[in-house]
Amino acid sequence: MPERVWTVRDALGWIVGYLEGKGDPHPRRSAEWLLSAATGLSRVEVYACHDRPLSTDERSRLREAVARRAAGQPLQLVTGEMPFRHLVIHVRPGVFIPRPETEVLVEVAMRELRGVQEPLIAEPCTGSGCVAVSLAYELPTARVMATDASEEAVLTARQNALYAKVGERVQVMHGDLLGPLLARTELRGAFDAVVSNPPYVPRGQLAGLPREVLDHEPVAALDGGEDGCEVARRIVAQSLELLKPGGVVALELAEDRAEAYAEELSGVLRAVQVVKDLAGRDRIVVGKTQEAS
Ligand code: GLN
Repeated sequence: MPERVWTVRDALGWIVGYLEGKGDPHPRRSAEWLLSAATGLSRVEVYACHDRPLSTDERSRLREAVARRAAGQPLQLVTGEMPFRHLVIHVRPGVFIPRPETEVLVEVAMRELRGVQEPLIAEPCTGSGCVAVSLAYELPTARVMATDASEEAVLTARQNALYAKVGERVQVMHGDLLGPLLARTELRGAFDAVVSNPPYVPRGQLAGLPREVLDHEPVAALDGGEDGCEVARRIVAQSLELLKPGGVVALELAEDRAEAYAEELSGVLRAVQVVKDLAGRDRIVVGKTQEAS
């Protein structure tokens, strides 16, 4: 950038043009996010303050961020954050970036838990912790025990719980699915819900994911085995040991697998339903364990 007064407007114009040339499919959105991250202005303020000059520091932060975005890094990894429901979730390389459809998983879990006084919730495959932390944030009496097989994810999820000031009610453990919870016999039959966004991309479809995902996000967070439901099946089998009678299972799944998996799950759980995501695609499968007789 040339050595003259650079305003927000100048920077926006330059970044949009530059990123467009580098093949960014949403250059304006990227420019706004990057500017907001480099200046500390909110996205609304970026709009309202077009004449604000940028400091030398802001310009150098911005140059670095634009270069990373131009090289194909997901915007959320460049800025280090992703808005999710009421929170801003911090993300870093090696950890799956929260997706908007997962906001619906939280919604469905909360709906199913309505009326439960102090819900105890398990969340395997927590990743950034977006689901666990949101549940604790939005359900002020809930306690959440989350797990992840990735150390990086465990650290990120713990950090996100602290940022959201729910660290006392969110415990994040390192381990395979619900294994760390099953290891504690006092937890058997103690949970009101198991909520998860497991890896669910059918293995044969992994190679067809966008470059940006394949190059920058952990494949372990995506690979759902042969039919995309293998991890979900293991979670459900473990859930049966952890849930109370009438406990809730809510899972996010691939849109083309949710219906078939719901059918399969009807053999194990009752009141199984498929809930669509915000784009109208089958996405969440929810059911309950048998009531005590
Ligand atoms: N919806 C995700 C994607 O397509 C997949 C998430 C997952 O496997 N849990 O990137």
